[in-house]
Amino acid sequence: MSSFLTSLSEKYQLYNEDEAINVIFNYFNQSSKPYDDLLENLSQLINSNNNNNNADTNLINFLVHSFLQWKNQFNKSLSTSIIDENILNNFISESLPIVCIEDFIEIFQIEKSYLINLLKSLLIYPTNSHIYKRTLNIIVKLNYQLEFQPNEILLPLILNSKDHLIDIYLDNHLQYEEYLINLLNHLYENGGKKIQDILNNEYNMKNITFNKKTLSKLAVRYWNLYGNEQNERYPNLATLQNKRTLGYLINVKYNNINDDKTMSDECWNELVGDIVQGNDDLSEYFIEILADRDDIAAVKYWMAQLDRPYYTLPAWVQKYIHIKQNSESKATPCQQIRKENSTIDYYNVPLENNEIIFIDSMPAYERLLDRLFKNNNEEILIGFDCEWKPLFNHTSTSKQRISVMQIALPNEIFLLDLLHFFHTCDSESIQQRLANRLFDNDYVTLLCYGFKTDAAMLVASYPIFDRALLSGKTLLDLSLVQNELLTANRGIFPYATINNNNVSSKDKGLSEFVRLCFGKPLNKSEQCSNWERRPLRNAQILYAATDAYCLVEIYKFLLNNLQSSDYLKAFRGRKPKKLDSTIARQIDENFQDTPNNNNNINQSQTLDDVSQISNEIKRPSQIKFVVDNMLYGLGKELRVAGCDAVILGNDDPHTDAIRYARAENRIILSRGAPYNLLRSHTVEGRCWQPPLNIPAKQQCAAVLKHFNVKILPEDIFSRCTLCNGGDFAIVDGRDMRILWCNMNNYLIKDLEPDLINYKSEMIDIDRMTLYNENVPLDLTGLTLKNYRSYEEFYVCRKCGKVYWQGTHWRRRLNRNTLLTENESIQDDNDDDNSDDGIIFYDAESTI
Ligand SMILES: [Zn+2]
Repeated sequence: MSSFLTSLSEKYQLYNEDEAINVIFNYFNQSSKPYDDLLENLSQLINSNNNNNNADTNLINFLVHSFLQWKNQFNKSLSTSIIDENILNNFISESLPIVCIEDFIEIFQIEKSYLINLLKSLLIYPTNSHIYKRTLNIIVKLNYQLEFQPNEILLPLILNSKDHLIDIYLDNHLQYEEYLINLLNHLYENGGKKIQDILNNEYNMKNITFNKKTLSKLAVRYWNLYGNEQNERYPNLATLQNKRTLGYLINVKYNNINDDKTMSDECWNELVGDIVQGNDDLSEYFIEILADRDDIAAVKYWMAQLDRPYYTLPAWVQKYIHIKQNSESKATPCQQIRKENSTIDYYNVPLENNEIIFIDSMPAYERLLDRLFKNNNEEILIGFDCEWKPLFNHTSTSKQRISVMQIALPNEIFLLDLLHFFHTCDSESIQQRLANRLFDNDYVTLLCYGFKTDAAMLVASYPIFDRALLSGKTLLDLSLVQNELLTANRGIFPYATINNNNVSSKDKGLSEFVRLCFGKPLNKSEQCSNWERRPLRNAQILYAATDAYCLVEIYKFLLNNLQSSDYLKAFRGRKPKKLDSTIARQIDENFQDTPNNNNNINQSQTLDDVSQISNEIKRPSQIKFVVDNMLYGLGKELRVAGCDAVILGNDDPHTDAIRYARAENRIILSRGAPYNLLRSHTVEGRCWQPPLNIPAKQQCAAVLKHFNVKILPEDIFSRCTLCNGGDFAIVDGRDMRILWCNMNNYLIKDLEPDLINYKSEMIDIDRMTLYNENVPLDLTGLTLKNYRSYEEFYVCRKCGKVYWQGTHWRRRLNRNTLLTENESIQDDNDDDNSDDGIIFYDAESTI
């Protein structure tokens, strides 16, 4: 290395940025050919940068940036040098860190058209190659997305379902999101029948093969994410989504796939009508499906409903109707079953209709508040439930919202119109008052049943319920009581043995609970109806009222029969398993959904406001660390707990921590002298020294406590402890068995005769990688003794490390949950003395 580079890297590593800049300025001031010297020094740095060390990357970036500064400040007149094309191409396509590409382009005044041509030539590499990903990232960095035709970049990614690359391309920019949705909408012109033509004629993509189903899923997913329900703007995608919903409803009716949920014909017709009415394409599509299902009665019914006379239908449907009319059909078996259903004697609410109050105006809402707050300091019992319109084809991004909230008091049942009314009460305090009274009050007992789903939906629909729900002290989930009573086999149910039907005696649902107490089940046939429609049908109102009121009745029944209220009271505030995590996850998603919220988090974390940092409860996904190498064990433990933690390498300068902290908004954890140095360079509260001389696990607990991070079971091991990657592929145990045999030179026919014809789904056995990935898999710790013991494995996509849920995992899971729930450090009697934190291994097999 030249004396210039040696001196530069010395200054730089000591965090003497000013001096480092002086070194650079002096060097180029004395240089007779500064451009050549810059290139020469960059090459040297890059060549010594064998292991992709971040320190070197930062130094390269620093050099390039300082050169640009030097040129702009002192040497504006310096004429730009012409760079050799091969060298330039190599810098851009391979060697130069992406962070300094922009500065580099400016220094050498490289023309945009030249760059675009170069980038285009690189896009021919396979999408899973390093070069392709680098090229995509450069394009995004330079904001060049729209300089390329759809067939050059976006369409290949769409057709091959490269969602993660598409997400890189979108870069959270509204402009590109709209571009993507428009392109997808265009592909689905004419109900998706023209995709091949469009690809062929407009984008010159001949004979492209792709999976139709996967493509439509992808389209619906992005439509849900970025379409914002703009049906008129993206009609084809709206139709696509509706077709998928129709397909599901057809399955519910004709294949009975909706498990235990019965659906009345009225309710089914309503849901279907909602989708197809007024849409010619969908009407025709729907009638065709009915004909295909050979339901002539339904075909005729919907022809009339949708105003589609015989002659407007496709020829084959006309023919079908014609044939059917000649051989007069009988009633469909489906309808016969429904008729039998209607003879069942169901549980009814013992209240008059005028005692069921639908709230969709302020005066009615005040009446509810009046009732709820009438006797502020007296105990009050409330039956609680929520209803929402079902989405049948949900992708993970579908937006569902609660429509009606039922609040049942002993003599009145209130149905609060959340969707159309509550939502418009813009004064937050009006909403918050209700939320607090219902979920966070010492005098209220809120009876609910299987509250977990309701809670998630509530927070998703109305974030105002966040805090109150996290307290949740009022909740008394009767499903827990039911489970415990049935398990303990306490003979308090008068109708326990009367029902001979085996199926429902095992069914622990609310309907069964009602039957056990009162001898009649609940009528659930409106459960999946369209709760967004107003006015609600009478059957819906009765259903909603009954669902909440029966909880009050059950409670009273139990109180009378148990002869002591203590048993029941002990359930108050006891939360169903995973309730907190469900709510917390939903809160996370709310943050991610709305860009505004997201900004708020970032702002609050970058502000000097220390209290903000330590008081707000955070989830691991909301906080990132950079950890000094001396606290290596702590870094690993943080990853185990699901926190994003960069651990500096042995040779990395401490100042790298500052760069990470600034660039990626990370909190610095360090100790000793470096801590004092780093702290003086960071915002107050963003650099912390954990307690020293205790095991890493306890340090980790202290860090989580200090920054108020709440860890839930599913966070444990959600990151790779080796590389900090957060993306795992779940691999079938059989795939791994074949790979293991192969890597250890066993013949499949000897060790795994069962798998001799088995084709691995996820793993490319020959290359020893995941399909479409390049990282070789690391099976360390998997032995002849244990390699068949697990049904699934987790592969870190970033480094290839293979994990499984061994004894370490189970032990850690228990300890970590305990540790955060009790907010105290459990005595560390773990038999594992190693502090290295690599713990996914099965202890018996690795040691
Ligand atoms: Zn990894």
